[in-house]
Amino acid sequence: THSLYALIRSRFPADLSQPLLSTPDGRSLAYGEAEQLAGAYARSFAALGAVKGDRVAVQVDKSPEALMVYLACLRAGLVFLPMNTAYRPDEVDYLLGNAEPAIFLCRPQDEATLKPLADRHGVGHTLTLGTAGDGSLPVLVAAGEGPVPPVVACDADDLAAMLYTSGTTGKPKGAMLTHRNLASNGVALVESWRFTSTDVLLHALPIFHAHGLFVACHCVLLSGARMIWLEKFDLAEVLAVLPQATTFMGVPTFYTRLLGSPAFGRDHAAHMRLFTSGSAPLLAETHRQFTDRTGHAILERYGMTETGMNTGNPYDGERRPGSVGMPFPGISVRVVGEDGVTALPVGSVGDIQVQGPNVMLGYWRMPEKTREEFTVDGWFKTGDVGLIDADGYLDIVGRAKDLIISGGYNVYPKEIEGVIDDLPGVAESAVVGIPHPDFGEVGLAFVCRDPATAAEASEDAIMAHLKEHLANYKVPKKVFFVDSLPRNTMGKVQKALLREQHKGMFT
Ligand code: ATP
Ligand code: MG
Repeated sequence: THSLYALIRSRFPADLSQPLLSTPDGRSLAYGEAEQLAGAYARSFAALGAVKGDRVAVQVDKSPEALMVYLACLRAGLVFLPMNTAYRPDEVDYLLGNAEPAIFLCRPQDEATLKPLADRHGVGHTLTLGTAGDGSLPVLVAAGEGPVPPVVACDADDLAAMLYTSGTTGKPKGAMLTHRNLASNGVALVESWRFTSTDVLLHALPIFHAHGLFVACHCVLLSGARMIWLEKFDLAEVLAVLPQATTFMGVPTFYTRLLGSPAFGRDHAAHMRLFTSGSAPLLAETHRQFTDRTGHAILERYGMTETGMNTGNPYDGERRPGSVGMPFPGISVRVVGEDGVTALPVGSVGDIQVQGPNVMLGYWRMPEKTREEFTVDGWFKTGDVGLIDADGYLDIVGRAKDLIISGGYNVYPKEIEGVIDDLPGVAESAVVGIPHPDFGEVGLAFVCRDPATAAEASEDAIMAHLKEHLANYKVPKKVFFVDSLPRNTMGKVQKALLREQHKGMFT
């Protein structure tokens, strides 16, 4: 069998009383208990009539039970479909209609609103799960009787999970992920990042996204390690438990928040062996500040819902600020030019494509879109733009959809943002393109300033600085000052929103 559950189970510690996770309030779940619970949940899903290949859609808050639901789905050959907890009923409605799950699991307080939607889409069972072991699902599971069903045999290409992309550039798309996709990537990460049963991962990420669910949980489950399980990133809580951990995975905003705390320093990180970052670009400045403060170089890696993790900075060797490193074992990455298939020479900027056992089967019920996003020779088009340098490091310049074409010239927002960010008084910035009658597109800069030194970064100062360092066609037409950049829960800047709000400025 190629069941990911079977693989995970084969890597459990011999002593099943070893903890899989513990929470700061003193809860702990052993590997043996996790196995029993996954079996009991799987038995209840089977009793409801769910069979291999059926989707189990889930919009619940993070809890150990939610993780058990995931394991139960893997075990039963069901397709786990987690939804962002921030989705409003309209968005849930769309996904339920699109995915047609056999079972829908929601928060107890959302049942009254969401069950009618699920009913309308013909979802057979709507159940609830809270964070305190409450809800109708735990009741059903506790009442379960009879033998626990065996682990369902799966082929490598059977679906294990369906995750919707973050919707940064458009409507979220359902990525169909197979047992092979998840298993190969999990094993590659365990080996690359040297996870062992002595590791303690501080888990503060959401588990509706590939980062917190697959990258973080699989590294632990496939190495017999342990997690300190936080419901969310809470600065005080993270600072309190970090000294007990050996590894931590974050989105860039986690790191800027840690650095924002004057209390954070070497003592917190003394017991740590690895910090990783991903899901959004980590500013080189943040990387350097983190090293100054803790002595640790953050390992930045690059992945996406459709592919899992593609590249990462080396475990041994130089972890370069601003770079996402080399392909993980078994994965190939190329940067291609205009024709979409020919690899460019070292250092040239082009479209990033990926091939390997990590790449999804396709987008759920979007055969056209799936065809569009694969090349004739079978590579997946990431939609990201970048270059591979002489040492083999991949640098991401931005997303193809964020590229600005002004007067026929390509303008990479990241380059402009870097120049703006260098100016004293600037905390961070985002540059987006909007339509313009003469130039086709022009850039607008959104700048977030440090309150203490804001005066140094006036609009005039920024414009003068940009004109000094950049060719005129790259200089944004206007600067807007904002208190913060709009971000989603994964720390991704919502450039589409900024574009949408200002697109009519010149037309
Ligand atoms: P959508 O595809 O719906 O527009 P999305 O691409 O943001 O949304 P995800 O799959 O969650 O959805 O994110 C993958 C993207 O995140 C990558 O394509 C890349 O643009 C970005 N990303 C991930 N890691 C990094 C990183 N280390 N540096 C820069 N960008 C990153
Ligand atoms: Mg994407």
